[in-house]
Amino acid sequence: MTAAVAQPPVIRSLLDLTFEELQQEFVAFGISPLHVRALWRSLHRKLAGDLTAETDLVPPLQRWLKINLGPANRFSSLLPTQITDIASEDGFTHKFLLRLADGQTIETVVMSYQGRHTACLSTQVGCAMGCVFCATGQMGFVRHLQPGEIVAQVRHAQLALRAKGKAGLRNLVLMGMGEPLHNYDAVMTALEIISDHRGHNIGPSKISISTVGVVPGILRLAEEQRPYNLAVSLHGATEEERSALVPISHRWSLAELMDACHAYFAKTRRRIFFEWTLIAGVNDSPAQSNRLAKLLSGLDAHINLIPLNPTGGYGGAATQMEAAQAFKKVLQVAGFPSTIRQRRGIDVAAGCGQLRAEKHR
Ligand code: SF4
Repeated sequence: MTAAVAQPPVIRSLLDLTFEELQQEFVAFGISPLHVRALWRSLHRKLAGDLTAETDLVPPLQRWLKINLGPANRFSSLLPTQITDIASEDGFTHKFLLRLADGQTIETVVMSYQGRHTACLSTQVGCAMGCVFCATGQMGFVRHLQPGEIVAQVRHAQLALRAKGKAGLRNLVLMGMGEPLHNYDAVMTALEIISDHRGHNIGPSKISISTVGVVPGILRLAEEQRPYNLAVSLHGATEEERSALVPISHRWSLAELMDACHAYFAKTRRRIFFEWTLIAGVNDSPAQSNRLAKLLSGLDAHINLIPLNPTGGYGGAATQMEAAQAFKKVLQVAGFPSTIRQRRGIDVAAGCGQLRAEKHR
């Protein structure tokens, strides 16, 4: 992992707080848990933008908000603002470029399929992992997101769906800009807030955390028995092939990563999803598929095969469907279920970091 980068001073937003933290914050003001619940509802269910205008909050709470949020309504001034909302040609994918309070930009994607909506969230500005085919990896690491900045993306997506009269989000994937397990604490706090049944109520089984192989984070997820789905990006089944695509494997080798996956499985008995970006002529041969099957032996695994989303900084091309099917067939014969993911939203630069990179150019 790269050296730690200085973080900007933390400006705490009410969206950073779990329900219990919010209660503690207000206990000193003599505000009962019941009334804090009303504030939580305004924040995470009604998705109110101006809390000082929320008339169903008790007077002491209203006074606190007026004093602490100030005339400029500090709560809403900390929310991300939308720079662009680009829809794919088929209208099923929307990509939002959002500006954070300090001017940094992140991407959030909403994908719709048969009336169900999934948001793909960012967890960092940029990323330190440097995967060669990834636009976010190509831009480097800028900073971690605060829990509230992750929660705010869910809020933004929910409001966008609501404005169109659509149902709320059903699934979340942490697969946008950044490596979630490199920002572990903030991500876990955000997920606690998002899955709280009094607010967004997106259950842990509907949430997937994607990692490129941060071994201590995987072990911690297992140790803490976190109830979320785990997706591990592999892309190569030998040390050499993987490290050519995923530089972080010089820090945590493929052998260490697989040991961590086995430890995770032994502790949680949960299925692990493995992500494999299919790159023509690089990692898409039947022999490589065979090696992958051997590598996953002993695990309850599902493999997601994702034809490459082309980026300006990497010359590789996506595997054609015929070769993808042949790759899948080998896995099937070895007894592993797999899915070839549609390259949805390619016309909106849906690979993570692509829209931000384009805007910067
Ligand atoms: S693929 Fe994910 S982990 Fe790799 S550089 Fe991109 S954002 Fe980071």
